[in-house]
Amino acid sequence: MSDNQKQFDAAIVGGGVIGCAIAWRLAQGGMRVAVIERGDIGREASFAAGGMLVPLAEADEADDLFHMCVASRAMYADFAHELQQASGINVEYRTEGTLYLSLTEHDDEELERRWQWQHAAGLNVKRLNADCARKLEPQINPQLRWALKFPDDHQINNRLLIAALHTAARNAGVEFQTQTEVESLLIESLLIESRAGRKQIVGVRTSRGEVISKTVIVAAGSWSSLLKTEAETSLPNLNVAPVHGQMIAVEMPSPAVNHTIYSCRAYVVPRLGGFVIAGSTSDKFGFEKRVTAGGMASIIERAKEILPGFADLAVTETWSGLRPRAADGLPVIGADDSVAGLVYATGHYRNGILLTPITAQAVSEIVLKGESGVQLSAFSPQRFARLQADGSKP
Ligand SMILES: Cc1cc2nc3c(=O)[nH]c(=O)nc-3n(C[C@H](O)[C@H](O)[C@H](O)COP(=O)(O)OP(=O)(O)OC[C@H]3O[C@@H](n4cnc5c(N)ncnc54)[C@H](O)[C@@H]3O)c2cc1C
Repeated sequence: MSDNQKQFDAAIVGGGVIGCAIAWRLAQGGMRVAVIERGDIGREASFAAGGMLVPLAEADEADDLFHMCVASRAMYADFAHELQQASGINVEYRTEGTLYLSLTEHDDEELERRWQWQHAAGLNVKRLNADCARKLEPQINPQLRWALKFPDDHQINNRLLIAALHTAARNAGVEFQTQTEVESLLIESLLIESRAGRKQIVGVRTSRGEVISKTVIVAAGSWSSLLKTEAETSLPNLNVAPVHGQMIAVEMPSPAVNHTIYSCRAYVVPRLGGFVIAGSTSDKFGFEKRVTAGGMASIIERAKEILPGFADLAVTETWSGLRPRAADGLPVIGADDSVAGLVYATGHYRNGILLTPITAQAVSEIVLKGESGVQLSAFSPQRFARLQADGSKP
């Protein structure tokens, strides 16, 4: 091994919530792990998020993604507690629940539909008349017609989550190589009876040298489809692309709101310390992050529908981030079929904070035990190749 080569049991491309959580679990399992991050830890989508853990508020049907989100939500209380023990950082896991407001006739239909299927499925959703909802949150729009309450749709502070995962992983022995870009994946063809057989990942080439590892996990968020190989090996096209979203934070002196509150057009999320954040937008601006005048105007206009006083509150921060979205909107989690040791954990789109505990569990089981108890078939990295072979579009 040359001076600029380092050897690990697992190398993780990307230090967002997904990469850091997997690193922590693998180090707990006894592996020597490196996280290679182009910038600083957790400064991309994981930093930009709202921290909402709200599968019921966001789901239109009980599909594979919904079940995965609900399963991950159920892990969160223990996950947050374990993280606090391991890092000393409280991620502000809050359990007040989520309200969903009906403000128009059209909203009535939307909420009614959500209530019908979720109630029939035995999920924990409650109908509140306007008086009840206003007792919970006196500052909401007096034109409120009625509301749904999702008592189990909780929230955390995602920036504290990043800090806690980073510290917990470091305490467990993970090496973080920041300001270091993965330039390519190193893949070798294994010779079987003198003929090229299965391929094996052997590491990554970075801007600071090679990292040698027989397990490489791609957790590079919106940039995951840009990774290249040096061998004549084509990786499955993961079809992951960025979806741009903007957010705004405002000061909210007491009495502040306590619940995450949705309308059909916006959401506001309370944070400890006397402010709320509101979002969001959804645009295809490529890889460029920017806060636009139009984006802010539209978020403020829609947040005012929830909290009429919103426009008068002092702005403390505005930001944007890139949600990693695969072509079908589902995460991409699992081992590569043709390159041994290469595993994907990306495409978490709008749910990466929520899906962090279950993704870390699934990927660490795949790496440490060869398979996971988590049902992952809908999220297979091979699904796009299968669709191409069928001639259907993802
Ligand atoms: C405005 C907004 C609001 C959101 N709200 C929520 C929410 O309320 N709840 C929720 O569950 N989810 C939410 N999300 C989605 C969530 O933020 C993402 O799904 C999640 O953060 C994805 O995590 P990640 O680690 O995969 O990606 P990222 O956090 O983007 O991390 C990927 C990392 O990989 C690094 N990287 C990329 N390429 C390379 C390379 N070649 N070499 C080295 N490093 C590389 C990047 O620098 C980056 O740090 C929101 C997202 C946005 C933008």
